[in-house]
Amino acid sequence: MDDKKVIIVADSITVGELAETLNLPVTTLIGELFKNGIVATINQRIDFETATIIVEELGLEDVELRKKAAAEPVARKVHVLSDKAVDRPPIVAVMGHVDHGKTSLLDAILDQKVVDGEAGGITQHISAYQVERKGRMITLLDTPGHEAFAALRQHGATLTDVVVIVVAADDGVKPQTIEAIRFARSANAKIVVAINKIDKEAANAQMVKTQLATEHNLNPEEWGGEVVMVEVSAKTGENVDKLLDMVLLVADLEELKADIDTPAEGLVIEAHMETGRGSVVGLLVEQGELKPGHFLVAGTAFGKVRTLLDFKGAALKSAGPSTPVTVTGFKELPQFGDTFTIVKSEKEARLLTEKTHQERERAAASTNVTSADMLKLITQKHESEDFNVIVKADVQGSLTSVMDSLRLIDTGDQVALRVIGSGVGNISENDIRLAGSSDTVIYGFNVELAPALKRLAMRDKVEVRMYKVIYELLDDARASMEALLAPEVVETQIGTLTIKGVFRTLKDEIIAGGEVTSGKAVPNVLARVKRKDEVLAEVEVTKVQRQQQEAKEVFEGEMCGLSLRTTKKLLVEEGDTIEFFTRELVKRTLA
Ligand code: GDP
Repeated sequence: MDDKKVIIVADSITVGELAETLNLPVTTLIGELFKNGIVATINQRIDFETATIIVEELGLEDVELRKKAAAEPVARKVHVLSDKAVDRPPIVAVMGHVDHGKTSLLDAILDQKVVDGEAGGITQHISAYQVERKGRMITLLDTPGHEAFAALRQHGATLTDVVVIVVAADDGVKPQTIEAIRFARSANAKIVVAINKIDKEAANAQMVKTQLATEHNLNPEEWGGEVVMVEVSAKTGENVDKLLDMVLLVADLEELKADIDTPAEGLVIEAHMETGRGSVVGLLVEQGELKPGHFLVAGTAFGKVRTLLDFKGAALKSAGPSTPVTVTGFKELPQFGDTFTIVKSEKEARLLTEKTHQERERAAASTNVTSADMLKLITQKHESEDFNVIVKADVQGSLTSVMDSLRLIDTGDQVALRVIGSGVGNISENDIRLAGSSDTVIYGFNVELAPALKRLAMRDKVEVRMYKVIYELLDDARASMEALLAPEVVETQIGTLTIKGVFRTLKDEIIAGGEVTSGKAVPNVLARVKRKDEVLAEVEVTKVQRQQQEAKEVFEGEMCGLSLRTTKKLLVEEGDTIEFFTRELVKRTLA
């Protein structure tokens, strides 16, 4: 049959709606979704791609899902380099475990290397700097740790060329070190390891190298591997120069280039309001040259560059690739991690932002379960899940107790509790942004959440949970971790039957009869149809009859009739075996 039934689906559809359109019992659909790693309820939305996969899996060859034509998306064009592309400075992120010395190292670099030799000239905090080494520039991102991590991840692989991973020689590899390694790899960035604090007596650089080589497959060059590792001291300044040389060397292998003669584009790396100045936005130019007077669009925000400043606050006439700048003139704040482009007029800017706005609204309104989630579930099914948290507490003492207690409930083998960030003080905008891009719950202990941030959290769908009693916070964390455990599928065998005759075969229903050979036959359960050892299909048993009468159960040795509901074409034959069973999802608890 060629005449397929075409069903038009919008971006997403609820499980119930899909079942209805497909004329299938909802349970069948939920069961199929479950088999594919998605635990869904009748009202849950699944996206078009997931629906398509499910229809295929169900073997519904006569159904074709077609996506309702959506408004044209605002494509983020990927810049293709021209043959006029020129060399550009490497963009370097410094990451590592807390207290291993990221900030000190950046300070040491700035003290030594800021172009005109006066780091003290930097009066404002901005999140990226440029330093000069042997006449060449290096762009350093100074939002070490998680904000940068989150923004960069959103942006994809293009931003960071090199990740300097700082590991304290007296402490070794720690969770955030591993996270940094993972990030660098996922961003396709080159890794340079800075083994810091070598001035300390307890420093043991060899130990760090061994850990990195044996546990994380980062093999030091000096041992014949390919990873550059430099032993440094941010405190004494030892080898800081060498570290920069190595960064340049590693960057050179990448042949980093950018176009200048092209409309400027890049990334929003900071955004805040300032009295008197309005929106103050940090940008990193990736291509082209940004100039005062340009019309900028970033996400849903636009504006005209009023002032263009370098990282020291000096006015610039133009800023080329890899240059971090601060601009004023945006009418509202763009989001950290948004890409920016320039357009010809305010009108074009308005049109573009309106489109993006609509897209984001649509995206927010649609999926709960996306095909990306589905893939994640499928691929991670047997790995442990992560429960990501950010912890904020009023004072160091309570922060320590919360963190220590959380560590105790993190058994790690089923669900890992990952502390993405922690700190003393009220919940900040950064906490929420970070949580928003990394699927993280924020716990506030004896702290406050400003009303504006509450709105931000709601908009970004970030859960902020406030507690004043530690054990209540811990109960919540434990419950959340248990909720992440994929439910266990428990199948209970009920009985078997051998088919003696097939009375009717319809598209979705089969009426047959046979003898119960073990256990019992019961209605409203699932059944497997087997021929020899091969499973032909899984069906629903809708009716069981004994001598033309509906029966609740028919036991071993007795004959009975069966109505089976099937979702795919199925020819049952005499001699086939029917196995009756139930399948339940059982919630698991932490060991
Ligand atoms: P971050 O959390 O990674 O930014 O770490 P910080 O730069 O704040 O450093 C944490 C602590 O380690 C501070 O007390 C620094 O003074 C100290 N520290 C950083 N680098 C060095 C170093 O090379 N040698 C010594 N002895 N202490 C260092």
